Amino acid sequence: MIGSLMRYIESKADEYVEDLRKLCRQPSVSAQGVGIEECAELLRELMEEAGISARVYPVKEGNPVVLGEVRGGKEKNGCIGFYNHYDVQPPEPLELWETPPFEAAIRDGKIYARGVSDNKGNVMARIEAVKAVRDVLGEVPIDLKFLVEGEEEVGSPHLPNFVKGHAHLLKADGYIWEGDGVDEKNRPVITLGAKGIIYVEFRARGAKRDAHSSSAPLIPNPAWRLVWALSTIKGPDEKIRIPGWYDDVVEPSDVERKLLEEAPFEEEEKKRELGLKEFLGGLKGFEALKALYFSPTATICGLDAGYKGPGAKTVLPCEAVAKMDFRLVEAQKPRKLLKMLREHLDREGFSDIEVVSYSGYEPAKTSPSDPFARYFIETVEKVYGNKPVVLPTTAGTSPIYTIRNWMGIPVASGGGVGYPRSNVHAPNENIRIEDYIRSIKFVATLITSYKPERLRKTAEKG
Ligand SMILES: [Zn+2]
Repeated sequence: MIGSLMRYIESKADEYVEDLRKLCRQPSVSAQGVGIEECAELLRELMEEAGISARVYPVKEGNPVVLGEVRGGKEKNGCIGFYNHYDVQPPEPLELWETPPFEAAIRDGKIYARGVSDNKGNVMARIEAVKAVRDVLGEVPIDLKFLVEGEEEVGSPHLPNFVKGHAHLLKADGYIWEGDGVDEKNRPVITLGAKGIIYVEFRARGAKRDAHSSSAPLIPNPAWRLVWALSTIKGPDEKIRIPGWYDDVVEPSDVERKLLEEAPFEEEEKKRELGLKEFLGGLKGFEALKALYFSPTATICGLDAGYKGPGAKTVLPCEAVAKMDFRLVEAQKPRKLLKMLREHLDREGFSDIEVVSYSGYEPAKTSPSDPFARYFIETVEKVYGNKPVVLPTTAGTSPIYTIRNWMGIPVASGGGVGYPRSNVHAPNENIRIEDYIRSIKFVATLITSYKPERLRKTAEKG
């Protein structure tokens, strides 16, 4: 059965490529508000054509969410959910594209378009998999849920509330996130989580206006206030100095350590590319990877005060601003840490410094021993014929926590269309057509070989 399904998918490759090009030709730039409604509607149509009942849900002051559902007969057959986003990054700078970003040109076995890798190729592969399974088997043997948002590239500001309000429509045994892809050596990459984040702006103010610096003995200098305050947050030993910050940080489990030990890490190449003699604190190998994925960070992203033009200007600035992001791990919670940060500054004598908070994401992880995660990893290995690289989490952030933490559903990402030269967020974004077709095969295999009762047995065996 699987063999004929795989052959059928190969025979339909041209049609699947055309569907994806159609989706890519519809711009959907969330940061610029371009083509959003049209793209949501097109997506709904493509889903309906594949036999997925789909609906566009308007979001107050936000971009619509497209939800899709497949009822695969009996409830006991289980349910898999998919998260994707239909919005894309702005295509600029346009002059660096070899063909226009929304033309979806094909060259050398690749499709070039803004969003083709991040994330339209993945959502389309999932839709085509459903279509193929229905064509060959008559019906999809399990239930499926599709959650496709239109604001991922601007930080998913409305997704948490949407998930809260529509939790009853989103239930599933496990979710497959955006998709990932393969690495330099064509090994499939699977990720099982994401770090959290808080993003803040610090504002220090002094006099009503800039002053002559000769008045320095009398007038407070917000640039110094800010620098002193920042230096209480992290020390030259790279440790965050806010008391309690590390309380909810947990060491990697044995299984996670093993995954890190097995994970490829081209550290010399990375250092060379960045022009670094060594990583911070001389970190190497396993310890470097552990720091990358398992430690919280405090990063000054921007710092601004006073005169920065040519020559000298003896000025005493009236304000200073810094932007910082803090990446969170394990059980660290944004709201609790924001409160800790404020209290810390007050305790250190910096209650004059205003803290404005922008975004907060919880960290989220699914254990590699979770039965659904294990099923997912095994299926990737089966379809790709290559041992996957499994990362317990990523160093970046994503709204996984809404499904993983709030709904208690395991989440994994993998089997997607990306490869190292996909140029995600950059000019000439592209995917290889062979990766797209393989991704369709993977999803088709995932939804036709899923047996929840087997998962329960794996869980009991531990
Ligand atoms: Zn992106």
